[in-house]
Amino acid sequence: MKIVLFGPPGAGKGTQGARLSETYDIPQVSTGDMLRKAVADGTPLGKQVGEILREGKLVSDDLIISIIRERIAQPDCAKGFILDGFPRTLEQAGALEGALEGSLDVVIYLNVPREEVIERLSGRLTCRDCGAVFKKSKLTACPACGGELYQREDDKRETVENRIRVYEESTAPLVAFYRERGKLADIVGVGGEDEIARRIEEGISQYAVS
Ligand code: ADP
Ligand code: ZN
Repeated sequence: MKIVLFGPPGAGKGTQGARLSETYDIPQVSTGDMLRKAVADGTPLGKQVGEILREGKLVSDDLIISIIRERIAQPDCAKGFILDGFPRTLEQAGALEGALEGSLDVVIYLNVPREEVIERLSGRLTCRDCGAVFKKSKLTACPACGGELYQREDDKRETVENRIRVYEESTAPLVAFYRERGKLADIVGVGGEDEIARRIEEGISQYAVS
């Protein structure tokens, strides 16, 4: 099963992607997590993209496309994968079509209104070790793995607005792109986590054959 998880920043792609990964036993490929890890590890890639991430801008299409090409060619992706955070531009979507040759099953569009997204992003903490996200609270350690919780640099309010602008300009056009190709499952992304997971299952069942 080859799934794209799509939606504005803060739509819940990370959370729902992890559930899908369990359900279908296929890897969740998060470009955001991959890039943040490169930054944390101080690799050459990390040095190249650190500032772009902090500002909430997009890294170049060429760069992210080559990262994804390499990643989905790994053996653990042979049965399928969940792309989380890719594609984010029409250029990237075109490259993905070329790479998958029509084998993409479904694009899950987690539809969440702008106001809700702003509230979620500026009010969330992320685990430095496992990447799980939580509502801001008195929690200091991750309940899942014990890792440290912190506010992502790009979850600060000024950057959040920038990310949403980038989403609306560069990424939102993909909704029409995939709808035209008959691949889009438009899912209401507001409500409880289980409820949303159920809607996603329903969406997938309408598209995927295997
Ligand atoms: P979000 O919560 O905004 O969905 P992600 O964790 O997916 O955040 O991505 C974080 C950052 O990584 C983005 O703001 C961008 O700088 C970079 N990034 C991730 N995926 C892509 C992509 N497909 N193309 C360009 N930049 C990307
Ligand atoms: Zn954790």
